[in-house]
Amino acid sequence: MTSTPATAVDLPGWRHVYSGKVRDLYVPSTDQAPKTPEASEAPEASEADGGAPADGAMLIVASDRVSAFDHVLEPGIHGKGAVLTQLSRWWFDQLAVPDHRVAETGALPPVPADVSERAMIVRSLDMFPVECVVRGYLSGSGWKEYQTTQSVCGVALPAGLADGDRLPTPIYTPAYKAPLGEHDENITFERTVELVGADAAEALRDLSLSVYARAAAVAESHGVILADTKFEFGRDTSGEIVLADEVLTSDSSRYWDAAEYAAGRRGVSFDKQIVRDWLAANWDGSGVPPRLPHEIVERTAARYRELFELLTSTPAPRD
Ligand code: ATP
Ligand code: MG
Repeated sequence: MTSTPATAVDLPGWRHVYSGKVRDLYVPSTDQAPKTPEASEAPEASEADGGAPADGAMLIVASDRVSAFDHVLEPGIHGKGAVLTQLSRWWFDQLAVPDHRVAETGALPPVPADVSERAMIVRSLDMFPVECVVRGYLSGSGWKEYQTTQSVCGVALPAGLADGDRLPTPIYTPAYKAPLGEHDENITFERTVELVGADAAEALRDLSLSVYARAAAVAESHGVILADTKFEFGRDTSGEIVLADEVLTSDSSRYWDAAEYAAGRRGVSFDKQIVRDWLAANWDGSGVPPRLPHEIVERTAARYRELFELLTSTPAPRD
């Protein structure tokens, strides 16, 4: 069972509708959920959008919460929400695909100053229940699975690969996006066809692989390896598939320093690995996880900032 996410803060002009482990979602507080016959024929709103009208505006606020092994830990990693939001923004600008950002206009409540660094106004989409994972390298759960089956999520791989090896070609290994409190589950491509239909399943796979290829090339030009990543997509009311959620952040991706990797030091990632390692060594997994020590929090915060600065060549937001 997941720990309950911390309560979202009150934001003037916005109404809180949902909290995931890391992000809090809001809709304009003046919004009335449409109750017209047309609206009742529309696809059901997902639980995450709290019934926001499809294509209506939503404010996504990334908190400093950090989760490991599906538990939200205390304390948060200061500055993490701002770093993740601004890294997502930077990546959306690099990618030539439709994304969910909406420009601020007078028709919407302004983004409250208190959260402006960590918030993004987006279109509320009908989200696909699929986490679109692409792996360019063998690592983490992929490596574990490979050792027993020589495949990852039904994708057969050559024999003799080692932990951290680059794959002959990037592979798409989707996961079913479980409701809050349940574990996401790796699934085959065929299962995604059952879940979302063949056309959408193929489009999600092709988009994911092409965005990964572009992002991996951009990352490489900044001395960083994008080992794997997870995308989330939704559909807008016109039926277009749109890149949503956070994108290519250190929470959704595994990044390695290319120079370290070349020197044979594999698996040193720019994410919450420090937190995971500490927790694995200091907690048996039962009851409430222990509080993170100050030193672990500081090192993790620095790691998030370091990746931001390597990729964007600009100073990372601090808080
Ligand atoms: P986890 O805690 O495992 O990450 P989560 O992904 O549900 O779970 P968050 O990332 O904290 O939690 O919350 C963001 C939520 O907002 C997700 O459920 C995501 O699917 C949803 N979301 C992101 N972008 C959009 C969008 N444009 N329209 C509707 N929902 C969205
Ligand atoms: Mg998420």
